[in-house]
Amino acid sequence: MQAFDYQLRPRILFGAGFVARLGQLACELGCLRAMVISDPGVVKAGLYSLGEKSLVDVGIHVQGFHDLSENPTNLHVERGVQAAKEFQPDLLVGLGGGSSMDCAKGINFLYSCGGKIQDYWGVGKATGSMLPMIAIPTTAGTGSETQSFALISDSETHVKMACGDPRAACKIAILDPMLTLTQPAMVTASTGIDALTHALETFVCNKRTPISECYSREAWQLLSEGFSQVFQTPGDIEARGRMQLGACFAGMAIEASMLGAAHALANPLTAVLGIPHGQAVGLMMPHAIRFNSLAVEDRYEELVKLMPHWHTSPPKSRASEAIVAVFSNWMKQAGLATTLETLPQWPGPVMGDPGKTLSLLRELASSASKQWTATFNPRPVTESEMLSMYQSALTA
Ligand SMILES: [Zn+2]
Repeated sequence: MQAFDYQLRPRILFGAGFVARLGQLACELGCLRAMVISDPGVVKAGLYSLGEKSLVDVGIHVQGFHDLSENPTNLHVERGVQAAKEFQPDLLVGLGGGSSMDCAKGINFLYSCGGKIQDYWGVGKATGSMLPMIAIPTTAGTGSETQSFALISDSETHVKMACGDPRAACKIAILDPMLTLTQPAMVTASTGIDALTHALETFVCNKRTPISECYSREAWQLLSEGFSQVFQTPGDIEARGRMQLGACFAGMAIEASMLGAAHALANPLTAVLGIPHGQAVGLMMPHAIRFNSLAVEDRYEELVKLMPHWHTSPPKSRASEAIVAVFSNWMKQAGLATTLETLPQWPGPVMGDPGKTLSLLRELASSASKQWTATFNPRPVTESEMLSMYQSALTA
């Protein structure tokens, strides 16, 4: 078994309506001035005001920061730092999806330790103590609430920088499944698929530990049960809770281990073509599973046994193929593309031109092979093998 050094964090509260506890929790931390980072969609859905009200009700001064979008960049972070310098908060709240929570962490690095976000790319680069942070996810996906990493894109190169430090971890995460009811179906789809890939990749990666495996298993069980349910009955709060807790456990699994090839293959699709993360990683996941099956088929067999209906009637095919089949069905059920050429972002001039297609895939494979996360894949993966996986993903 792999040795590990694992610190349990953050404090997690889970329950419908728990967003109303934000103010009291901020008081417990001894805070008086809260800056709440929420993207404009979260404000429009009325979720930001729930958090704001809870803070104002207990006498805490609140400043909202909403100048951010999906895949926050160094520019969003820098504008947030400027706002923080003017407001002088003693607490940061990330209320929203992964973008809001990651942006809040990014702001915390720069506000607390100075410099630019590029200085914190990597692990353990914080130079001093950081502001306490409370995370309140409004999607069930990234698991950012339980991770010490902020994913911030470079506005010029579009490279996603993973900036991690134990001091950037949230003090408290509030999981309120009611907040996920308002998310559009497409967000439910892409964030839910992302969470599933987190369970799948952490469970097989070469950094897995007995701790991370516990989280991966539980995440897989909750997510694989909840995913179809939230599409069949979107108002089912139990199913929403399963997804949110599953995403949270998957986030804890990442924190205690790492990801793998599917995320390495997905990142260039987002950086080069602007494909949303959940769509990109979901599209590449089956190809990574097939590639990894030569090394970790036994791990997939274990996951198969955890699925309730397969426990009683096991699939006839190999475990990895059975997981590919069920995962592909989830992608279709969620309305996500399962091939590169059916993506709306796939460039028209490349379509049907083998030379241009190969050149684009080579560019993607070159970038994918340089992704840090690729080094944690259970089976070592070369640039040419990544090119092959993109080629397999081109058409059905
Ligand atoms: Zn992901």
